Amino acid sequence: MRNNITLECTECHEQTYLTNKNKRNNPDRLELKKYCPRDRKVTLHRETK
Ligand SMILES: [Zn+2]
Repeated sequence: MRNNITLECTECHEQTYLTNKNKRNNPDRLELKKYCPRDRKVTLHRETK
């Protein structure tokens, strides 16, 4: 039930974070505020496929 996903920064498109999620709990794309080392600030990160 758990899938590995990559979180990509929506500003510089760096794929910064690896995580996993439960597809049953979160059928939609994940969006999280995370720190991006490239932008050196907190940006919105989105699940990629
Ligand atoms: Zn970034």
